[in-house]
Amino acid sequence: MDRWIRIEQDDTTWEFDTEFLTSEWTCIWNQGCAGIGAIGDVAGQLGCCSVGAEMLDDEEAMRISAVGAALDPERTQFASAIADGGVLVASESDRASWATRVVDGACIFLNRPGFPGGEGCALHLEAIATGEPHIDVKPSICWQLPLKVEHNIDDASTSRLRGWLRRDWGPEGNDMAYCCTERESPLADAFVGEVPVIESLREELEAILGVDLYAQLAERLSAR
Ligand code: SF4
Repeated sequence: MDRWIRIEQDDTTWEFDTEFLTSEWTCIWNQGCAGIGAIGDVAGQLGCCSVGAEMLDDEEAMRISAVGAALDPERTQFASAIADGGVLVASESDRASWATRVVDGACIFLNRPGFPGGEGCALHLEAIATGEPHIDVKPSICWQLPLKVEHNIDDASTSRLRGWLRRDWGPEGNDMAYCCTERESPLADAFVGEVPVIESLREELEAILGVDLYAQLAERLSAR
């Protein structure tokens, strides 16, 4: 059976990676994730936040700067660093102009283990506290990962949605001790979810594809 499902929408042919979308992958941050460094590190709980999050465009950079400046200091470990120097720096990657600052070895928004206001992403905690969808608060790369969307595959009318691969992390991807979307890692297993990705990441997939295309995709997958 072909690994890829193809669905036409307007002038675009979408290709979907059925292997990943039907897998039981789930984010295991704080539950064994060994991060994305050259040496696996479970205890540090840095996950994939050990690098700065690249901004999609200037508009997102402005939004994240504003959200960061307004975060509740009680829920934000690096609130003083944000107040002193903002949340963004010029990105070192050629993929983006801006990225979140790295402080003490990880994204400025990442609350570290033991922080009393809550561990993990301060933006995510803000979304939970205010009742906003996390996809409206966090940078797009953060809520989309590990869904990777590529446009202009082969030709300008083909787009592809698949799971992240090592190469999506840039040159450093080759040296990562752990890649959560690879099966059979000796460090940790992220394929332990209770439902397939098409269900567990429905909110994110609908935000990327729209409700109609998501529904078509879900129907095609359930019919296989
Ligand atoms: S997405 Fe993967 S690397 Fe990032 S925190 Fe989750 S399990 Fe870890």
